[in-house]
Amino acid sequence: MSSEVIVDRGPARPAADATDRSAGPNPLLQVDDLVKHFPVRSGLLRRTAGHVQAVNGVSFEVAGGRTLGLVGESGSGKSTTARLVTRLITPTSGAVRFDGVDVLASRGRQLKALRKRIQMVFQDPFGSLDPRMPVLTAIGEPLEVHGIASGRAKAHRVGELLETVGLQAGDMHKYPHQFSGGQAQRIGIARALATEPDMIVCDEAVSALDVSVQAQILNLLKRLQREFGLAYLFIAHDLNVVRYVSDDICVMYLGEIVERGPADEVFAHPRHPYTQALLDAIPVYDPVRAKARERGTAMGEVPSPSSPPPGCRFHPRCPLAFERCPDEVPRQAPVGRGHWAACHLHDRKEATA
Ligand code: SF4
Repeated sequence: MSSEVIVDRGPARPAADATDRSAGPNPLLQVDDLVKHFPVRSGLLRRTAGHVQAVNGVSFEVAGGRTLGLVGESGSGKSTTARLVTRLITPTSGAVRFDGVDVLASRGRQLKALRKRIQMVFQDPFGSLDPRMPVLTAIGEPLEVHGIASGRAKAHRVGELLETVGLQAGDMHKYPHQFSGGQAQRIGIARALATEPDMIVCDEAVSALDVSVQAQILNLLKRLQREFGLAYLFIAHDLNVVRYVSDDICVMYLGEIVERGPADEVFAHPRHPYTQALLDAIPVYDPVRAKARERGTAMGEVPSPSSPPPGCRFHPRCPLAFERCPDEVPRQAPVGRGHWAACHLHDRKEATA
């Protein structure tokens, strides 16, 4: 039985201005007001005792050939957003359009065609490969499922894909345990490339890898983007990683996007206290930069998404919170060119400007 429910979303974040779009006039992926609340069941009868508000009114766009980085702490809703966009789970409400097609309404052939165009790379490269399957079968499966190649043509194509990601064609006869973590992730990427997608959703795709291997995989992803015009929705908790690959960034906190904008702008001029806290958490060894950080740091644990704080969800941890913050949900306010932050501090400046 489906556990999907329509629930009260609580106070909605005030709608952003119509110009609140960063991907240009023809976005490849368009996500509008996406919501996912999971029921929490308890007792012998498994009655619904509440809801985990994993994603709460998320909107963004990704243009073809560009990378949107989705960043935030564990529990911010990033991975749930990835699974919603790729239809691995069904949202409570909201809309997802891919190249103009309604993803959530798609069924049958149309959904299969969409799945060919949107692929995913997961965090655990070994978890996404069947240990009993040789690489030929793992990468060849989507080729067969989508009617792209079979038999010798499939083996030939698998060899090409392996070489594209920096492995050898002969590796197709090996099993997952014969590869390192970085090599296994290259196989995951080759599998994602098999259907010649327009977009790849990378869900913490380098988080499980050593730093030096991370860099190799990130460089591979960038090269593939240049060669094939791929768009990425790149999800990670590591800001340095996100900064390296992203054109634009959305910062998520407790299921909501609190800041968005061009990556360089967000990193150079973070305007939301949460983004500032995330940046402050990156170690620096430069005393001048360290001095510049004396603006307060977010305190305490992330609240539970089953009972998020009222008003601004960040207010219990925010060093700059003031009386308005627990009472009112902040709206997305423009803070620069294509740069937005959901914080009353910026509304207040606007109001007094
Ligand atoms: Fe902090 Fe208030 Fe801004 Fe929220 S709205 S980030 S609590 S200052």
